[in-house]
Amino acid sequence: MNLNFKNKVFVITGGAKGIGAEIATKLVEEEGIPVILDKDEKAAEALLERLGKISNSTIFAHKIDLTDSDKCRSVVEQVVQDCGRIDGLINNAGVNDGIGLEKGSPEAFCNSIQKNLNHYYYMAHYCLPYLKERSGVILNIASKTAMTGQGNTSGYAAAKGGVLALTREWAVELLPYHIRINAIIPAEVMTPLYRNWLNSFDDPEAKEKSITDQIPLGNRMTTAEEIANTAAFLLSEKASHVTGQHIHVDGGYVHLDRIIGSTSNCRNNACYLYLANDH
Ligand code: NAP
Repeated sequence: MNLNFKNKVFVITGGAKGIGAEIATKLVEEEGIPVILDKDEKAAEALLERLGKISNSTIFAHKIDLTDSDKCRSVVEQVVQDCGRIDGLINNAGVNDGIGLEKGSPEAFCNSIQKNLNHYYYMAHYCLPYLKERSGVILNIASKTAMTGQGNTSGYAAAKGGVLALTREWAVELLPYHIRINAIIPAEVMTPLYRNWLNSFDDPEAKEKSITDQIPLGNRMTTAEEIANTAAFLLSEKASHVTGQHIHVDGGYVHLDRIIGSTSNCRNNACYLYLANDH
């Protein structure tokens, strides 16, 4: 399928590692030009080297801490100077920083919102004039925690809820410019961020198994490539009538786990139907 990304420029926050790096790779495979914004310079350099082997275009990466709105503004200006256009923005950078009600403070909560939500707005705001020129597209990466909760992560959960709300809000506001905005909601994807989180448990392997056991489709984690495949679709003209949507790419984790768990003790269809309606 030709996604028609040739010469199109996509800005990806947190694009050096994990999900963002996989989206950058997918865009390059489809002849698009990713611009990577990340504070991990080493990871960005390593990715640029890998992408350089599969792309004929110059790919840019900028070291930036996205929590600084002035830096977001100047990096967008730099991207336009380097590339002459912005066709898409992928707001992806974030960190599940475990700021809870008990293990937290008002300052830490605000800081978490700053790390996980505010720069989604900064980047969309500064990219907007250029997105308008190209009837561009915005993709926001959210998290299942916005819908399910996780416990002990108030800042992150609130920020991701905000990301979902902004997805709908911007989809409405930007209708006149034919700019589409969608969100992907991942649940369990093995990335450096996720590995760090698992390693915070006494027995990371047991924790991982307890999670994958609950993922309905295949009892396995979603791969970053599977997130990137959906991202590529949503960023492309193939999704030309898709906007304001919250798309779960999670092997049924958020919507199917309860019914699957409940039906394991079920022996007849009547019981199955009862559970299916038990919302
Ligand atoms: P990751 O492996 O940590 O990669 C994210 C990259 O973004 C890292 O290089 C990180 O740099 C960078 N970054 C984070 N905050 C930044 C900031 N303020 N300024 C500049 N760079 C920043 O994370 P991931 O697992 O791919 O997650 C990507 C997105 O998916 C996040 O929004 C996350 O909430 C969401 N998500 C992930 C999962 C999952 O299972 N992995 C599930 C639900 C949602 P440092 O490493 O130096 O911080």
